[in-house]
Amino acid sequence: MSVVFRSGTVLTMDDAGTVLRDADVLVAGDRIEAVGPALEVPEGTEEIDARGGIVMPGMIDTHRHMWQTAMRAYGADWTLTQYFVWYYLEHGRRFRPQDIHAGNLVSAWESLEAGVTTTVDWSHGLQTTEHADAAVDALQAVPGRFVLAYGNIQAGPWEWSASPDFRAFVGRRFTPGDDMLGFQLAFDVTGDPEFPERAAFEVARELGAPVTTHAGVWGATNDDGIRLMHENGFMTPQSIYVHASTLSADSYHRIAATGGSVSVATESEQSAGQGYPSTWSLRAYDIPVSLSMDTSVWWSGDLFSAMRSTLGADRSRDHLEAHAKGETVTNSRLRAEHVVRWATRGGARALGLDSVVGSLEAGRKGDVVLIRNESSPVMFPLVNPYGQVAFQAQRGDVEAVVVNGVVVKRGHRLVGFDLAAARAAVESTVEYLRGELGDEAWEAGMHPDVPDVEILDNPYQYTEYRSDSTHGA
Ligand SMILES: [Zn+2]
Repeated sequence: MSVVFRSGTVLTMDDAGTVLRDADVLVAGDRIEAVGPALEVPEGTEEIDARGGIVMPGMIDTHRHMWQTAMRAYGADWTLTQYFVWYYLEHGRRFRPQDIHAGNLVSAWESLEAGVTTTVDWSHGLQTTEHADAAVDALQAVPGRFVLAYGNIQAGPWEWSASPDFRAFVGRRFTPGDDMLGFQLAFDVTGDPEFPERAAFEVARELGAPVTTHAGVWGATNDDGIRLMHENGFMTPQSIYVHASTLSADSYHRIAATGGSVSVATESEQSAGQGYPSTWSLRAYDIPVSLSMDTSVWWSGDLFSAMRSTLGADRSRDHLEAHAKGETVTNSRLRAEHVVRWATRGGARALGLDSVVGSLEAGRKGDVVLIRNESSPVMFPLVNPYGQVAFQAQRGDVEAVVVNGVVVKRGHRLVGFDLAAARAAVESTVEYLRGELGDEAWEAGMHPDVPDVEILDNPYQYTEYRSDSTHGA
């Protein structure tokens, strides 16, 4: 079984940043066989016309709470405070295994729809291993590449990671070296000087599993957590620090010195309040970056959005800092090519898969995305392909997706997706949760109080003007 993308603009994302015009990408079996002009292909190869389009590696999301997709958009007006109250303290514990399954299934398909071929499921709603089995069942029902990052916010990581059920689950569901389904431990380090998380880090080390952790989150995790990890020898090149927005220079130095990477979820940080998106700071420490979407309870599982918002936040900060000094930024530091690299190679590196996915090179696994939309006025002229991906394209422009050599999206349509079943499952979860909470609590959870806005005294007098702002609307 082989498939070839014909005559596209190919962003290889190789080390040299090679971009090929009018070139082909041939995937044979589960691997990329060749990249170049007018390739000879085996008989029976499926041909995908890529003329006028961009062929690039599948994108990689290194942090998404996929189970929360069952509540898509519910928290659009939340801050981190409402998020914590809803999921951690009040309603998160009501999720049953089938609810985790419903959220994961639709989130996994959403990834493929948007050209995200590898997704880390930062699954911190696993109250029991039945929940965990449901999470993995959903991921395995979808032809994408996934990593289950096992977590449980209803218990300490030193508790759940020590349970025989957890150990049996890991043994039952994961095969070392399987690049279609990876495994991590997901928990946060509180900064408690007793460092109770030590036991969980030891379990991770014993299992050979990386740890992913929300670090540098305003009001939740801080430099103490980083220092404890470092002093106790648990910061490794496999460690992923999510957000890392409110950390001191000392913590960034510790991350850089131990080779870990930061998963930046710009849209999340901008809106929820973990701290300013950290790419602007990370540059100075030469810390590797990957991108993530965090949760579809607010945002979508769409890395175009991550690339765009990351460029915006980074450049915005650059200008703001310069203006404060009376200076002008004349050349942008962060380029469109950089965020496309973070969305591909950055993720692959973070997950220890840099020799497996993230670039279009012979021998890599066949994760390929075609961005092309024959009926859109936004696909031409194609003069700057990185700029096209970062600022112009959107997920509806993802025409074809191949994962591990298998065509999972073609002609803008997912292959083998039972939409009706996925929708019915999510609707049933929403109905259940709404019933558990009652209509009043359900509505209140979606609509937090709006703080008062103090209107400033205006020295100018309006006579016939009436405010049309949201205040008083
Ligand atoms: Zn998160």
